[in-house]
Amino acid sequence: MSATPVTEPQSKSVPQSKKVQYVYFFGGGKAEGNGKMKEDLGGKGAGLAEMTNAGLPVPPGFTIQTEACREYMRTQKTSDAVNKETADNLEKLEKLQSQKLGIGDNPLLVSVRSGAKFSMPGMMDTILNLGLNDESVKALAKKVNNDRFAYDSYRRLIQMFGSVVLEISKSTFEEVFDGKKHKRGVKLDTELTAADLQEVIAEYKQVVKKHTGKDFPQVPVEQLTMARDAVFRSWNNDRAKVYRRINNISDDLGTAVNVQAMVFGNLGDTSGTGVGFTRNPANGDKEFYGEFLMNAQGEDVVAGIRTPVHISELHKLMPAVYDQLRDITTRLENHYRDMQDFEFTIQEGRLYMLQTRNGKRTGRAAVRVAIDMVNENLIKPEEAIFRVEANQLYDFLVPNLDESAEGIEVIAKGLPASPGAAVGQIVFTANDAVTFAGTQTQKKPVILVRAETTPEDIHGMEVAAGILTSRGGMTSHAAVVTRGMGKCCIVGAGDIAVDEKKKEMRVGDLVLHEGDWISIDGTTGRVIKGKLNTVPASPDDPDLKTIMGWAEPFRTMGVRANADIPRDAIQARAFGAEGIGLCRTEHMFFAEDRIPHMRAMIMARTVDQRKVELDKLLPMQRADFEGVFRAMDGFPVTVRLLDPPLHEFLPRREELMVEITRLELTDAKSPKLKELHQVLSRVEELHELNPMLGFRGCRLGIAYPEISEMQCRAIFEAAVNVAKEGIKVIPEIMIPLVGMVKEMSNQGAIVRRVADQVFKEKGTEVKYLVGTMIELPRACTVADEIAVEAEFFSFGTNDLTQTAYGFSRDDISKFLPSYIERGILKSDPFATLDQEGVGQLMHMAVDKGRKQRPNVKLGICGEHGGDPASVEFCHKIGLNYVSCSPFRVLTARLAAAQAAASDKLKVEGGRTK
Ligand code: ADP
Ligand code: MG
Ligand code: MG
Repeated sequence: MSATPVTEPQSKSVPQSKKVQYVYFFGGGKAEGNGKMKEDLGGKGAGLAEMTNAGLPVPPGFTIQTEACREYMRTQKTSDAVNKETADNLEKLEKLQSQKLGIGDNPLLVSVRSGAKFSMPGMMDTILNLGLNDESVKALAKKVNNDRFAYDSYRRLIQMFGSVVLEISKSTFEEVFDGKKHKRGVKLDTELTAADLQEVIAEYKQVVKKHTGKDFPQVPVEQLTMARDAVFRSWNNDRAKVYRRINNISDDLGTAVNVQAMVFGNLGDTSGTGVGFTRNPANGDKEFYGEFLMNAQGEDVVAGIRTPVHISELHKLMPAVYDQLRDITTRLENHYRDMQDFEFTIQEGRLYMLQTRNGKRTGRAAVRVAIDMVNENLIKPEEAIFRVEANQLYDFLVPNLDESAEGIEVIAKGLPASPGAAVGQIVFTANDAVTFAGTQTQKKPVILVRAETTPEDIHGMEVAAGILTSRGGMTSHAAVVTRGMGKCCIVGAGDIAVDEKKKEMRVGDLVLHEGDWISIDGTTGRVIKGKLNTVPASPDDPDLKTIMGWAEPFRTMGVRANADIPRDAIQARAFGAEGIGLCRTEHMFFAEDRIPHMRAMIMARTVDQRKVELDKLLPMQRADFEGVFRAMDGFPVTVRLLDPPLHEFLPRREELMVEITRLELTDAKSPKLKELHQVLSRVEELHELNPMLGFRGCRLGIAYPEISEMQCRAIFEAAVNVAKEGIKVIPEIMIPLVGMVKEMSNQGAIVRRVADQVFKEKGTEVKYLVGTMIELPRACTVADEIAVEAEFFSFGTNDLTQTAYGFSRDDISKFLPSYIERGILKSDPFATLDQEGVGQLMHMAVDKGRKQRPNVKLGICGEHGGDPASVEFCHKIGLNYVSCSPFRVLTARLAAAQAAASDKLKVEGGRTK
């Protein structure tokens, strides 16, 4: 294919003065569009154009570009220009085919296919066999001399048209169809006769009439117009919106519509349809990979209604077609220089290509394919590093099932669709998954068990720990979607019977009910009864090291981890963290042996009382810091002084009152009662209406300097002790929630004073920094003043987002969904940094801080530090490092390397979606 000249890409923005071309023809060996025009033609349309230009066997047709969809969204109609170009191109297609849409002895039938810039598998709807009506169905039957085929095609059209265009629920049609199968006592669709299908069609037409008050449209051109507009509308259906939200795709892009001459895979035993990948999308192995069904049409393969056959079988059935398919797809892969995901149909022994695109793959497969392609001289290492999405590295860290457990009971085996392991309680519908999985604060792991998944299940799939289906193949909806999500999935576990209504699944005699535990292994396809333990995967995979070895030299930002205890610090080092960006000292206080002392400290009424309790906490804190410093030998450790409001360490008011009442009724003389009353009154004193904006952060250390003193003493004593062991210690003491420079100088003075004392006592000094967390808008606006006192800034973007928006992170879930639905917010600002608003504040602080103190060290320690898009932003504004949770360190390292590499190589980062 590389031998075929490719048309030069056209500029995507059409100058205002020039007339917009709305429709692009492909067919007869050449196309008006080309593969680079994804923005206008959508991925599918661009691929069809490119394949046509390359001389591949593609049924001809035309693509109505995305601008027409955007216009439709704005005006609720299509313009005259769009209508005219559609009509002209239909005429052109009719001429080329020597057929007329739905008219005559040899009627032209077309498919109407959606296709946006980014592939959205199964999200948008496609209509096949359009052009059939009561007349043309007879002509078709006569022409191919096959009544059954013709009526099957017609009933499919009414069904697809009915659900997509007329918005009649799919199940209404399914009930009719299944009813007929039941009545005839047959199992397979193919067992229904032409006469049966004619009855189905009659009933379908009644369904249409009943639901719409009108007859099924008989005029072919009218069918086409209605279908085209329905595809435009489908851009905004719920599941498309959810998919875009999960995948961060803009709602403004719109979809293109492809109108393409039909080819038939359901014309008998020398016809068929299939899908495939040029490499294994689960593990990346270089093998021809795919599935097909003979005597089937379109959706049949992916719908999971019949379990498809491995592509190698095609080699036995039709060796010439198989060889041609291999040849074409190999050329496509070489041409696009990436793994391809393709669709094909065989009509009476002749092969047609219907789609090609860069295939979705697991993280492990992405890494494997990238490395193999470098070895095959198809791409260069600099390109390879963009072939892996930073988030996908998580795959290397996914848990595996603990195989050492006794008596593992494998109850079924399915296809290993998406790797990793999941252990959870079973649920049978997407809605139940959502209910069962609970809210963010109290998540329960659930396994969503379905006969097959459809795009309507997407919200349930999103919250499930893993997915198990009894039907479908490796390219079924469940498989494709979970691989994209990096979620463990098994499909086609045929021994399992799923009863959604009864909320149970059966395997032989075994019945499992909603809420029962199972463990699934998406790497091997095993379904295991009960709750197995999981063991974390090792991050030392040699492939992973190779890719990281190519990427890392580009990286200019440091990557640190947020870790509070020595164990997490050790884990973070193993993932390649270059220091700790946030060590939250309060997390140490929540430990069981410490909380009583912490409470006693809070209960203290005098400074002296408080100091007594603080002295008890000192050795514990010191020991923790020693552990963290040891783990980070030679790397900096940022320790934040006490931050949360004190009441968080005390029992809750309601619990105390219940306990007091209980004691008063049962044991009124109990000495505990007095104590509880004291605690309660302290809790009431500390009660705040708005604790997030209350007595917390540096405000605590300012009111109770002895707390900061104790913490600093613990830090510096630990630092000196560990330094004496010959380990390099670099402490950075961070003052939280500073909004005014005087807060910073107040606490900074304590840090420096205690450091001097400790160094004098111990006769050893260590270098350290004092800085602040920048997490209030005011701090950003006076960052130059603060930088006089602070040697480093670390952006606490969780609080900065809360305070910039005035959104409480803990309460946002109440309104976030409606904000996203209405397009007010594009994504959760606590997950992906709001670059325009919060990012501007950061930008301001960076500028002001650097102006005042050119070598001020700048980092980020909010949750955003592990989000690839946010990491890229941090690179752009010139931060020195990002810090994130240990499990995201790998992702952050790759994202930071990609950001730097796209800068340096002047390429647009990231691979095509
Ligand atoms: P999706 O984006 O969901 O894959 P497609 O537009 O690719 O939707 O179409 C759905 C199914 O219909 C695919 O299996 C495809 O191969 C098949 N199909 C689409 N157009 C035609 C056509 N002109 N002839 C035969 N099959 C078609
Ligand atoms: Mg497709
Ligand atoms: Mg904070």
